[in-house]
Amino acid sequence: MLLLPKFDYEEPKSLPEALAMLSELKGNGKVIAGGTDLLVNMKKGTVKPAFLVSLRKVEGLREIGGENGGLAIGSHATVSEIADSDRVGSMFPVLARSASCLGSPLIRNRATIGGNIVTARPAADLPPALIVLGAYVELKGKDANRTIPLDGFFTGPGTSVIESGEVLTRIILPSAPPFTGGDYIKIGHRAALEIAIAAAASRLTLDKPDGVIVDARVVLSAVAPTAIHAASAEKALIGQRPSEELFAKAAALAEGDCSPITDMRGGAEYRRDMVNTLVKRTLLKAFNDARDMKGGNA
Ligand SMILES: Cc1cc2nc3c(=O)[nH]c(=O)nc-3n(C[C@H](O)[C@H](O)[C@H](O)COP(=O)(O)OP(=O)(O)OC[C@H]3O[C@@H](n4cnc5c(N)ncnc54)[C@H](O)[C@@H]3O)c2cc1C
Repeated sequence: MLLLPKFDYEEPKSLPEALAMLSELKGNGKVIAGGTDLLVNMKKGTVKPAFLVSLRKVEGLREIGGENGGLAIGSHATVSEIADSDRVGSMFPVLARSASCLGSPLIRNRATIGGNIVTARPAADLPPALIVLGAYVELKGKDANRTIPLDGFFTGPGTSVIESGEVLTRIILPSAPPFTGGDYIKIGHRAALEIAIAAAASRLTLDKPDGVIVDARVVLSAVAPTAIHAASAEKALIGQRPSEELFAKAAALAEGDCSPITDMRGGAEYRRDMVNTLVKRTLLKAFNDARDMKGGNA
């Protein structure tokens, strides 16, 4: 049985207190949120922090509230809270859908949105949905704060632009234009407790219910070192009238936009085939919701 190595642990009650601790620890400390990723890695010995700074008791990091017509989600909101939130479900159903297929109920009750982003796993469930929604992340350090697009946050498997000493505090989702719809689908070996073999999130905006596509976002997961845009698929969609043929063309282009690997969970060719299927299906649902305005914001 793998045991946790020894470490010191603090539970600050405010963000300034947490940031001061991290700054003093100078890279020897790590933030812990739900611990569903970090504690597993510490048991495996792949990370060895001497000090853990928990966000559990830090006030104000769990709220889900309105922000300039969009939504701001505290980084310590759990995946369950996001999946079950009426506000998220009505404004951003794509995000609610991606949250509801992460792990199992037990994992969702502990795992946080901030942890899911900062782990920077190529197959993480929330980043593709958040990227198609145009999310921004708020990063706070002891002496400086910055708010940056999530698109561009990831630099490789397990790496991102966050610096040691910084805490991801909020995720900000701008309001979406009218006639916008979206979808997220993940494929795994099992219905639950499975990291994606391939996943896709799509969002379409029409100029009017029977109009042309004015904005198209297609983001793929588990088929490249980070979540990536299917850029040629997006380009092929913009300015066009939606149809099943157009979506099939975009899906075929998306296959060429990714660079999947073969591993124990799936072969590269299988993953490419799945990308085709997932992109077609998510685009069709995104279009139907955009046309019917069923998806609220997206
Ligand atoms: C059985 C099992 C099944 C899983 N299934 C899935 C799945 O289907 N899909 C999926 O995407 N993931 C899955 N995961 C991975 C994991 O549960 C998620 O990535 C989860 O969202 C991580 O969040 P956490 O709060 O537990 O992060 P933690 O483990 O606490 O932290 C993860 C990393 O993020 C850093 N961090 C956390 N919060 C912040 C913050 N606010 N600011 C700065 N740094 C921070 C930590 O320092 C650490 O490096 C699974 C894990 C397990 C054990």
